[in-house]
Amino acid sequence: MKIRVSIATAGVLGLKKIKTNAKPTTLYFLLPGKCQGSCAYCNHKNGYLSRVKWPEFDIEDVVKRVQKSDAKRICIQCPYGEGYMKMLKNVVERMNEKPVSASISGVEREELKMIHEAGVERVGIGLDCATEKIFNKWKRGVPPWHKYMETLRNAKEIFGHATCHLIVGLGENDEEIINIMKKMKKMGIDVALFALFLKNKNEIELSRYRTIQISRHAIYNGNARFNFEEGKLKEMYVERIDRNAFMTSGCPYCNRPFYNERVTKIYNYPYSINEDEFEKSLEEARKYAEIFITYW
Ligand code: SF4
Repeated sequence: MKIRVSIATAGVLGLKKIKTNAKPTTLYFLLPGKCQGSCAYCNHKNGYLSRVKWPEFDIEDVVKRVQKSDAKRICIQCPYGEGYMKMLKNVVERMNEKPVSASISGVEREELKMIHEAGVERVGIGLDCATEKIFNKWKRGVPPWHKYMETLRNAKEIFGHATCHLIVGLGENDEEIINIMKKMKKMGIDVALFALFLKNKNEIELSRYRTIQISRHAIYNGNARFNFEEGKLKEMYVERIDRNAFMTSGCPYCNRPFYNERVTKIYNYPYSINEDEFEKSLEEARKYAEIFITYW
């Protein structure tokens, strides 16, 4: 059997000779075959997910290399369609020396139980869109919005935690993306943020993305208050901002180096940033909205 390996992961495992500016702390894999969904922002049919290329390798060889690797987590991306959850189960049973995350779509409760028993430690669910209307515009050939919501609830119950993947830039306004993050927080579900990368470029301005990153961090780490004007964020009051706000969000040790951006303009920092990078990120966010650090 073959498995697809992200290009940076292939470098770390010695399957490809490539130079990386940041080493992945999680090993990223993609199950082989065609996704039966056809979401309008996804480049899976051309061998990519977001900006990342996924060459195929023999799974036996990959498993041996994973065993020797010092990465902290394995993440397996699962296309949508019949038979994929069973395939995921089989792959996890062969590759589970480290905590395993699986990135999935809306699926049945029984399927979640099956992959949990096989050794998946947590799941990320590609809701991607901030509202049902935006979901219906972009996501095609996959289960409906309510099925993704049900999967998030079931995953939280079965695994004890779950992550909701959200892409910023699909046409949502600030209020909508902030509201869905608040909703996820209430449900006890984490959020992993992605910046839309389409046709070789980021389709969201960096300053807006920085404020959404700060919003996520604030919602999950204390009190936060937001003022909007017709959906656009005008002011936010947060208890604190630290450098984690600008780093890749998601499962523990997930850093997805340059998954949705070029190395020259980083949206999600895949490493611990220094003071200078932190100040610049904050400055960038302040071009978009007023940010007040306050105490309640
Ligand atoms: S947050 Fe990262 S490790 Fe977790 S499922 Fe998503 S891509 Fe995988």
